[in-house]
Amino acid sequence: MPKAPVDKDDIVRVDFDFRRELARKVEGNLASFCYQCGACVGDCPATTYGDGFNPREIMLKVLYGLGEELLKDDSILWQCTNCYNCHERCPQEVKPVEVIISLKNMLADRDIYPKAVDKIIKTFETTGRTTPLSEAVTRQRERFGLPPLPEVPMDEIRKLIEPGETEPRASARADADKGETG
Ligand code: SF4
Ligand code: SF4
Repeated sequence: MPKAPVDKDDIVRVDFDFRRELARKVEGNLASFCYQCGACVGDCPATTYGDGFNPREIMLKVLYGLGEELLKDDSILWQCTNCYNCHERCPQEVKPVEVIISLKNMLADRDIYPKAVDKIIKTFETTGRTTPLSEAVTRQRERFGLPPLPEVPMDEIRKLIEPGETEPRASARADADKGETG
């Protein structure tokens, strides 16, 4: 019996540019070692309380190079809380959270991020913290017997985030690109 012709639209095409860009951001290109066991899903709060979030499925899209499904407006990636539970659970030491953080960075490189992230960036630029340190937080720390938080070394942080500092990093990235393709 003759086989039905394959519809070209049904063929998954690996976006190797996306895979290469991600590999430059995640140390060791660990995503390739994911064998889809799903251990990262069980304790994921974003899976439990989010809307359709699943770290195993994200890793599968990474393996297939489906960048367009991840790097888009309203990306599901922002539901990840960066709690690192998946990092603890993964038997392959794939560090899915670090893959997801790198994907978020790729979104930010494209100026695609929620307004709430913009607020966090501004707070970090002015205080060196992602969450302002309030009186209430200080009181709670005292209640739980925690020591006061150390001063933030703003001088050092400014050196890292000032525009002049981005040039060496950009050229370093270009060198890395040459190494990747050369
Ligand atoms: S870091 Fe993100 S993906 Fe991993 S368990 Fe936490 S919420 Fe889920
Ligand atoms: S636990 Fe690790 S190997 Fe298993 S699906 Fe998640 S990322 Fe992949």
